[in-house]
Amino acid sequence: MIPGSFAYHRPKSLEDAVHLLADLGEEARALAGGHSLIPMMKLRLAAPEHLVDLAGIGDLKGVREEGGDIVIGAMTTQHELVHSALLGTKIPILSEASLLIADPQVRYMGTIGGNVANGDPGNDMPAVMLCLGATYHVVGKGGERRVAAREFYEGAYFTALEPGEILTSIRISVPAAGHGYAYEKLKRKIGDYATAAAAVVLTMNADKVASCSIGLTNVAETPLLAEEAAKILIGSSLDAAAVKKAVAAAEAITSPASDNRGPARYRTKMAGVMLARALSRARLRARA
Ligand SMILES: Cc1cc2nc3c(=O)[nH]c(=O)nc-3n(C[C@H](O)[C@H](O)[C@H](O)COP(=O)(O)OP(=O)(O)OC[C@H]3O[C@@H](n4cnc5c(N)ncnc54)[C@H](O)[C@@H]3O)c2cc1C
Repeated sequence: MIPGSFAYHRPKSLEDAVHLLADLGEEARALAGGHSLIPMMKLRLAAPEHLVDLAGIGDLKGVREEGGDIVIGAMTTQHELVHSALLGTKIPILSEASLLIADPQVRYMGTIGGNVANGDPGNDMPAVMLCLGATYHVVGKGGERRVAAREFYEGAYFTALEPGEILTSIRISVPAAGHGYAYEKLKRKIGDYATAAAAVVLTMNADKVASCSIGLTNVAETPLLAEEAAKILIGSSLDAAAVKKAVAAAEAITSPASDNRGPARYRTKMAGVMLARALSRARLRARA
């Protein structure tokens, strides 16, 4: 339970952090809230020789509105997302999903950037980001680039981040006013990762689904965008037959591992149950 030795660096600017990570090379890792990385180091599943703490870089914090989009700094904590008035009004699914992460202690320290950059299929925010069509802004020694969340996740703990790159912020177009949303998560107890979870954002027009987007958590090596399921629902009135068909389509793209959260088939079925619940709650919240 004791990590290997490492050198600790605390740069004051993004520029310094990028230079440090570039100079220190592959043995260096960015440190955000430390609530995924430090446990991995204690278990000796990660053994970086240098930690570059991003906590001293003020520019990476906060939630703001910019040109009709919401921009969230990577070092914004999950606790801050739960309580952001701006998110509560504009993109409430982010506050709802954040509140289902772990427990208050973890949420006080854990950041949105760490949660989405980590690449752990158990993390809750990546599927929500897929559902919302978010864009990640990353900076490295080669400059800045933007990566769609939907193209970011390549495998368990493998993402499109190049070595030394820092995720600086997440940009999300505000969903239409009156949209319905829900994040439904099955967990064994408070503080647990999802057995399966589903994120839904939809709009209704004259009792028919006008748009729909669905993300799934922890039922594959990466978060999943359930495109076929969403397509089935568009134009429907979310009647039982359409929901059943969509649930089957969503279940079909899952490939969970059997683990201490249950056998693979159970977790697939639970993804379907979470999706049906999320659709029902999103429908109740949507204004035509
Ligand atoms: C008991 C417990 C229960 C938990 N339960 C849940 C849960 O239910 N749902 C859930 O989603 N999470 C859960 N977590 C994880 C928690 O949300 C973490 O805080 C989060 O996954 C990582 O965020 P962090 O800020 O702590 O990142 P860190 O642990 O500091 O970093 C994680 C990884 O991301 C990299 N990284 C961090 N920030 C950046 C950046 N800006 N740019 C580039 N790379 C970066 C780091 O180098 C590292 O590889 C739990 C954690 C604990 C300890």
